[in-house]
Amino acid sequence: MGLVCLIGPSGTDQAAAQCADSVVIDSVSYQVPDIWCDRMVDSTDLARPADLVRLPDTLTYQDYRIYVTPATRDAFVAMAEAAAEDSIVLQVDSGFRSKSFQRRLIARRLAEGKPFDSIARFVAPPGYSEHHTGRALDLVPSDPSFVDSPAYDWLCTHARNFGFIESYPEDSQQDIPWEPWHWWYLGPIDQAQ
Ligand SMILES: [Zn+2]
Repeated sequence: MGLVCLIGPSGTDQAAAQCADSVVIDSVSYQVPDIWCDRMVDSTDLARPADLVRLPDTLTYQDYRIYVTPATRDAFVAMAEAAAEDSIVLQVDSGFRSKSFQRRLIARRLAEGKPFDSIARFVAPPGYSEHHTGRALDLVPSDPSFVDSPAYDWLCTHARNFGFIESYPEDSQQDIPWEPWHWWYLGPIDQAQ
């Protein structure tokens, strides 16, 4: 819908990929699936690792070392404290991820024999992940069962007050699978350099 068909005969039932973007992983070029095509992270929104701060390890899964922007950390700490007052535990198992980290995530799955297109339904191609911004967090358990957790209910009611949104909701218009565990901080960007 709204996409221009670039190549190929019309009238085939096969949903030909239409995205002109490609990514290179282990020297192999892959076409970016349509669901990600218009979601490349703008270069101005890519986090610089030197600007990131570590989340308190009391808020990370198994004391993982997780880095986010300072504003994201402050907002998440405040949100987690408010959640704790309601006996809700918010724990993070992923924050900032670089393009090369994202590339390795996909390479590992390719090595397991999975096709790129099925991997990329759930794992953003390098350059397309909100985690590159340092403002996206995956909460535990970072899988579809999160939707049944008390934490999810709590976030649906309160997260917006702290500047977080559910990026890939159930009724996503973009055909991106529902990721109830993935939350993105949209509050004011920290101006400090
Ligand atoms: Zn995520």
